[in-house]
Amino acid sequence: MIGRKYVDEIISKVEKRNFGEEEFLNAIKEVLNSLVPVFNKHPEYIEEGILERIVEPERQIFFRVPWIDDNGKVQVNRGFRVQFNSAIGPYKGGLRFHPSVNQSIIKFLGFEQTFKNSLTGLPIGGGKGGSDFDPKGKSDREVMRFCQSFMAELYKHIGLDTDVPAGDIGVGAREIGYMYGYYKKIKNANDQGVLTGKGLAYGGSLVRKEATGYGLVYFTEKMLSDNNLSFKDKTVVISGSGNVAIYACEKANELGAKVVALSDSNGYIYDENGINLDIIKQIKEVNRGRIKEYLDYVPNAKYTEGFRGIWEIKCDIALPCATQGEINKEAAEILIKNGIKVVSEGANMPTDLDAIELLQKSGVMFGPAKAANAGGVACSALEMSQNSSRLSWDFEEVDSKLKDIMVNIYINSKNAAQEYGEPGNILMGANIAGFIKVAEAMMSQGIV
Ligand code: NDP
Repeated sequence: MIGRKYVDEIISKVEKRNFGEEEFLNAIKEVLNSLVPVFNKHPEYIEEGILERIVEPERQIFFRVPWIDDNGKVQVNRGFRVQFNSAIGPYKGGLRFHPSVNQSIIKFLGFEQTFKNSLTGLPIGGGKGGSDFDPKGKSDREVMRFCQSFMAELYKHIGLDTDVPAGDIGVGAREIGYMYGYYKKIKNANDQGVLTGKGLAYGGSLVRKEATGYGLVYFTEKMLSDNNLSFKDKTVVISGSGNVAIYACEKANELGAKVVALSDSNGYIYDENGINLDIIKQIKEVNRGRIKEYLDYVPNAKYTEGFRGIWEIKCDIALPCATQGEINKEAAEILIKNGIKVVSEGANMPTDLDAIELLQKSGVMFGPAKAANAGGVACSALEMSQNSSRLSWDFEEVDSKLKDIMVNIYINSKNAAQEYGEPGNILMGANIAGFIKVAEAMMSQGIV
């Protein structure tokens, strides 16, 4: 009972101190509630104030990002970097450029990232950043000017051994390229390992582009095989059509599944013959277009306005890969009614707490984001290793390391769930396994 009391006390303090930060508070509740048995077994963590410290970011940087648009008008966005926890290594986590970005979202992502990074088994701490800038509809020159202004402040706070950002929503190879170019100019240093997700010509790693989507499918494949199932001949629905969704779709297809739907923030497409991914890559990666343009190439497919209805499509496996808050309780009820077997999260926190509870109670296998989508950051850490050794590994080598990491994350999460009394609860196991390594490192390093 000591664990329950401690967790309740901390949740109530966090609620008061971070009033109104809904996403951050949800992430805190999801993680802390599953740690209760850990504190029952390890009261020494309570004495050392581990939770009090772990819920508070080590440092938060908020800054003004002024830039000039193509009409010569001054625009101002807000920049964020939250350096959450460095107990096991330099802060590491993506940058998100999306109009919805605010303090709560960046803090929730940084908090989650701490445990995700710990789960990879690699020496990386947790951080996250971004801006409320929307790259959609902007010219390349506007995006470049924004990225340069963003980096003109961010460079003061990052470094090879302190903080290594990467991409996330709205930040892909183009944005990373502009930010790296400007960092190099103002620092006069070829610190390639200061950003990951770089282009292959200047220190990027093979497989980084595919890593989150492939990793999600490797993790889910292991979860399926552990339950005598596989991707073969399964019908899959994937939300989003960005970096994570596209490469999850590619790997699921390779394993014999049929992906029948993808979405963007305007709506979703359904193709009963299976989505043609070459067309999607042309629309999204080359043209930067909208998902409904798929119908220009495949007139028999269907397009529906609004992205939430995608979960009404009957499928065996759902991979939410767009953003937070995609699957609520009502969507979960529909998925269950339609016989869903697995929900595995490519996006961060796409399933809300009520929906997770319902899915788990109904016996649906659930792959939580911090475990299932850790492939991106794991591959980023492999990119950092290649940068510091000035070597490049081939595709097969990086891919096989990625697969091993994803399988190990599944096994470690499963074992932790078993050890702490909830066999099969991979969400709880992932939280516990991720937490214990960070807590042990913090215990060894004193009160800092
Ligand atoms: P992208 O920007 O490449 O793609 C995001 C996709 O999600 C787009 O299809 C976008 O549609 C859609 N989307 C974004 N915001 C919303 C919204 N509010 N409502 C509906 N749809 C939305 O991002 P990524 O693929 O990189 O990231 C997707 C998710 O995966 C995020 O949660 C991210 O944090 C997570 N993630 C990403 C990693 C990575 O390596 N990239 C690593 C780990 C997690 P539209 O184009 O219309 O905006």
